[in-house]
Formats: sequence, structure tokens, C-alpha cells
Amino acid sequence: MHFLKIAISIAAINILTACQTPPESGQDEQVAANLMQQAKDSTLAFEIVESLTVEVGPRMAGSPEDVKAVNWAMDKLQQLGFNRIYKEPVQVPVWHRGEAKAQVISPYPQNLVITALGGSVATPTQGITAEIVRFDSLAQLKQANPDLISNKIVFIDHATEKSIDGHGYGETVAGRSKGAIEAAKKGAVAVLIRSIGTDHDRMAHTGMMRYSDNVEKIPAAALSIPDANQLNLMLKRSPSINVKLEMSPSTLSDATSYNVIAEVTGSSLADEIVLIGAHLDSWDQGTGAIDDGAGVAIVTAAAKLILDLPQPPKRTIRVVLYAAEEIGLVGGKAYAKAHQHELAKHYIAAESDFGAGKIYQIDVNVAEVAFKPTQQWLSPMTENNIVLGNNQANGGPDVSMLPKQGVPVASLRQDGTDYFDYHHTPNDTLDKIAPKALAQNVAAYAQFAYLMAQSEINLRPIQPETK
Ligand SMILES: [Zn+2]
Repeated sequence: MHFLKIAISIAAINILTACQTPPESGQDEQVAANLMQQAKDSTLAFEIVESLTVEVGPRMAGSPEDVKAVNWAMDKLQQLGFNRIYKEPVQVPVWHRGEAKAQVISPYPQNLVITALGGSVATPTQGITAEIVRFDSLAQLKQANPDLISNKIVFIDHATEKSIDGHGYGETVAGRSKGAIEAAKKGAVAVLIRSIGTDHDRMAHTGMMRYSDNVEKIPAAALSIPDANQLNLMLKRSPSINVKLEMSPSTLSDATSYNVIAEVTGSSLADEIVLIGAHLDSWDQGTGAIDDGAGVAIVTAAAKLILDLPQPPKRTIRVVLYAAEEIGLVGGKAYAKAHQHELAKHYIAAESDFGAGKIYQIDVNVAEVAFKPTQQWLSPMTENNIVLGNNQANGGPDVSMLPKQGVPVASLRQDGTDYFDYHHTPNDTLDKIAPKALAQNVAAYAQFAYLMAQSEINLRPIQPETK
């Protein structure tokens, strides 16, 4: 181990000499190492997420609690002493969950646990009673004969695989977002999905769904995973399972929310920005601890450590707490629009929005020629058990639209093995956050943000999107 470290240090010194990098660059690494250690010893991030989840709790975009969350964030950032604190208005659609009940009417009468998907319309007050028709996936539904579906409740039964990087979610989430459109096209009266989750709790996972203007809007809900299993066992015994669905969600008029922003003002390159973000809104069922109170705490605490350095960083560190991510990246899109004029000055951006598990890898999305130098510059992060990954980062949901506009991004990838056990359920609560793992995240963001603020690498132009 030691021999390797010495070899790397000598190589690094040779490269630094060859590039005639100013002598401070060694100091930058030292400052980054100190930040990592301070972050690991600090409980600030946990205090922040505890404060948000206890004093505000659930905070659906556009709700009175969302207003409270914005005020909470302004106060908290003020108390922490950031150099510049401001908020920018964002118009957000407002949806209220109401009640959701489901029961098997025949042949095995019993209740099922469901929850409405975000944005769903209500059933008529007398409910909808219809036969279930099951599909393995959205893809199978798309290929099905409409005669099988007309006047039935479509059941999309696509199980989500547990994985460290959450790729299982990527494979099943389209059933949630587009299931109602595809089912309604074929004459279905409602859609029920197996929750996009990896737990076995009797709780359903909500999440956003969409309608299409030209297709009838039918109610959409998620079944808890044990209830989806129960329906399968019933279907094995009887081809005809009849379910009654009663749901009362409602869409209210649009409201104003805010992206809340705080800065550590840079010194020699103050007009250039290193953006670290998270989203302030949450779903209503839990207290929004892992999604995304953790992210709010991680980026805020990381920036605070940099704020407290004796010397300010060269570039400005900008913390953005986005509005209304859950209902369609509304705050992220609004930020990109409002800051169009200065996107060219965004050196790099990253969002923390994958829970509170440890970071195991950092991916970036920079010019191909800048990739290796960037990895080398970020190599002190390996001391925090982080692997230097690939050049295909998307940066996180609220910054995912920035690479198309030329902004380099990074993804600090968290261990998401348990994330989809709790995601968008009543179980998203503070006790799911391990303080040590949270502090490791803060250490990673502090190192990342500081090193990027000091970097002399030209990260642009980035490669055009390949997706
Ligand atoms: Zn989130």
C-alpha cells in the first residue's frame, strides 16, 4: 500500500512540475483532505435533516408545508452564515392525495393496500368495480389485444430488482409513469401497478404518473408488494378477480414555490460556479428523510465546511435546494431557464438525490480530453473509499438538463441497495439514515466542491449527448 502511494505521489509531482502548476495545488489537496476529516467528525448534516424532518416533515410541492420548508431553508442558511442567500419563484402544479381504497369483491373478498400515484384523477364517488387483467410489464401491455383490456382494471405486475445503483427502478418506473396512458388507449377503466419498490412491507410506493392530452384520464394507483403477490395467488385460483377501487385525489390550482439558493463567494474566479444541489420538496407519505432531506443536509453541510475555511475557494460554491422535483423536475427546469445567461459560467454541477447510503463511485461528464486530468485531480476522493468511475454521469435529476446546454456534471453515486425499500413510502423517515454514512457523503461533496472550485482544468466542451 505504502509503496503504491509513494509511487503515485512521485508521479503526481512529476506531472505537476511538467504542467508548471502553481505550488498551491499541493495545498489544495491538503485542504481537501482536511475537509474530508472534518466532515467525518461533524454531525451537522444529521442535525440539518433532523431539523427539516421534525420541524417541517412532509412537504409536497405547492402545499402549505412546502412554504414552511422554503422558510425553514432560508432561516437555516441564514443561521449558517452563507455569503449570499436568495430564493427564486417557481410555478408548481398542486395535487392532493385524498383517500385510496381497494377491495377484492369476488371471489375472495378482502381489502388491498394501495396508494394513488401522483397526479392521478379520482374515481367516481361510487368507485370503479371491474375485473383485473394482469401484465408482466408495460411492454407486454403495449403489445396486448385491446379486446382483453376494455372495461377492465389493468394490473402491471413488474417486480423491481434490488441493486446498488438502482438500475431495477430504471427498468420498471415507466409502468408507473406511462401505465395509465397505455391502459386507457386500450379501453381500461383504471390501472393498478405493483409498487416500484424492493421491500416486503405492506405499504404502497407513490410517485409521479402522467396523462396524455389525447387519451382518457383513468385513475392510477400502486399496490403494496404483498398485495400484488396476493392478487397473483388469486389469479392462479380464478381467472376472474373483481376489484372495487375508490380514490379521491384532486388537482388544485397552481401555486408558487421557490428554489432556495445559498453561496460561498469565490475569490479570483468568483463569477464561475460549482453547483451542488438537492431537492427541498418531498412526497407526503413519509417525512422526506432519505428523499431528499438527506441530500439537502449533505450539500448544505459540505458547503458550510468550505465557508468556514480561512481562505475562500477560487470559484463560487452555489448550493441549490430545488423546488418540486418529485412532480416533474419543475425547479430544475426553472433554474436552467432563469440562469440561462450564466450557464456558460457553471464550471460543474452535481445533485445529491439517492438517499443517504455511502458514496462508492464518482462519475463525471466532461470533455473527453479533460476526463483523465479530472479523475487525477479528484483522486484524493479515493481516500474516502470512492472509486473514480466513468465519463457518462447525468449529474442527478435536477441538473440532468444541463449537459445538453454544455454544463459539465458529476454523479457521486450512493449505495442505493436499500433505497427502494423506503422510497416514496410512509417508511421514508429519519431512522433510515445512518449518521456515519451521511457524514461520508458530506466528506465527498466537500472534497468534490472544493477541488472543483480550485481546479485549473478546462472541462468543456463536453461530448454531445449519446442517449
Ligand atoms: Zn428525490
